[in-house]
Amino acid sequence: MSKRIAILGSTGSIGKNALRVIDSLGAGYEVVALSAHSKVELLAEQVRKYKPKFAAVTNTDFAEQFRSMVSELDVEVLAGPGGLEEIAKLEDVDIVLTAIVGAAGLPAVLSAAKAGKTLAIANKEPLVIAGELLMRTIKASGGTILPVDSEHSAIFQAMQAGSHDEVSKIILTSSGGPFRKMSLGTIENVTAEQALAHPVWDMGPKITIDSATMMNKALEVIEAHWLFGMPVEKIEVLVHPESIIHSLVEFIDGSVVALLSKPDMCLPIQYALTYPKRVKGIAEHLQLDKIGKLTFEKPNLETFRALSLGFEVARTGGTAAVVFNAANETAVEQFLAGRIKFVRIVELVEHCLNRHNVKKQVSLEELLEADGWARKEVEQRVQQRKSVGI
Ligand code: NAD
Ligand code: MG
Repeated sequence: MSKRIAILGSTGSIGKNALRVIDSLGAGYEVVALSAHSKVELLAEQVRKYKPKFAAVTNTDFAEQFRSMVSELDVEVLAGPGGLEEIAKLEDVDIVLTAIVGAAGLPAVLSAAKAGKTLAIANKEPLVIAGELLMRTIKASGGTILPVDSEHSAIFQAMQAGSHDEVSKIILTSSGGPFRKMSLGTIENVTAEQALAHPVWDMGPKITIDSATMMNKALEVIEAHWLFGMPVEKIEVLVHPESIIHSLVEFIDGSVVALLSKPDMCLPIQYALTYPKRVKGIAEHLQLDKIGKLTFEKPNLETFRALSLGFEVARTGGTAAVVFNAANETAVEQFLAGRIKFVRIVELVEHCLNRHNVKKQVSLEELLEADGWARKEVEQRVQQRKSVGI
């Protein structure tokens, strides 16, 4: 029987790569649903090619335009964010690949988890903000979470070399981003164009900025904490500019198991779709003799304060992570809109964390409330400081 797949966020970087992977897998993989926020021309093209039964447009401003584009096709169009929750729990769907960016993906991720689906999760923010709830929900429903984030896919694969209680630590690798060699002083005035030029990975704008601040690695520490049930003390970050080793797991006997490949998201996407099988794929194979050497360094926690904040937030738990994430999402939007300097992103996140009274053991409503508070706090602060040149 075919694996029936829904791709939430099919017009983004992960979504498009997922469709390339599905093209290469051929028979046995069926696209049942696709979604886009506003890139409706591309979504219409994808609908024509993959003939899904459902297509969702989350930004209602674009829904009517999309309906008219696909009016001659046999596809059910869902408009508004609620459409994703519907798709995520469809009877006709086996695997939900979540490739939405940001906390906006949370309701759909929870919906898929509740419905006991296999969740191929690229959208890391829901795990960061509601990791405990999400892992509890998936356990109760009998569903499965398969990581797509390259580091977490690597850890998931390396973990298979031993049992959970034989792991002494997990080591997340990081390319270091475009500003790896910069000091706090020189990073002050980098432009959006410089921050968007990642040395290794070609990704959506939000995660590319997160890689430049190293907020991405901070979010990944929290993501790993929840996905693998690993205490924060057992998680480390290692800068590895070549991005060949995607992460490592150290076992109690001192053995370290690593996952190596060319940096290509098609590989972790494919593994999540074909799991537990491996099949031939489109990713180019490694030739280590051509690469010659692999290098490693400690992260610079002075320049990349986001990373130390991430560890603190992971240790604190409760609403700290939702504030951390929401403040970052809003600050990145402000930076990309040209309203604040690059270094203010992490300053604004830290400001929100300092002003927030962390609540532990919270409901989903309380998480969303903290999310809303942090977004407003960043917007107000940017507004207030505009006159003094933030
Ligand atoms: P992207 O910006 O390229 O694509 C985002 C997708 O989400 C698009 O399809 C867009 O239509 C949709 N979207 C945007 N806002 C939305 C909203 N408010 N509601 C519903 N849908 C919305 O992003 P990306 O780089 O593909 O990243 C997607 C997720 O995968 C992120 O969480 C990111 O951290 C994670 N991830 C990405 C990569 C990568 O290589 N791009 C690697 C690892 C993890
Ligand atoms: Mg990653």
